[in-house]
Amino acid sequence: MPDPTCACPHCKCVLGQNAVTKDGKGYCCQGCAEHHAHGEPCESATGCECAKSAHG
Ligand SMILES: [Zn+2]
Ligand SMILES: [Zn+2]
Ligand SMILES: [Zn+2]
Repeated sequence: MPDPTCACPHCKCVLGQNAVTKDGKGYCCQGCAEHHAHGEPCESATGCECAKSAHG
């Protein structure tokens, strides 16, 4: 069973209505599911900087 929180390394968002399951892991949004490969922002609550951290 997927973790109730986003599997994106720097994202602590809880999975909600927009959750995406990929490779057996749960992500809060499509951007996280794609590991922000194209700089997609996190669609979850404001203040989440996981997209930035992904390119650190
Ligand atoms: Zn996030
Ligand atoms: Zn996320
Ligand atoms: Zn993310």
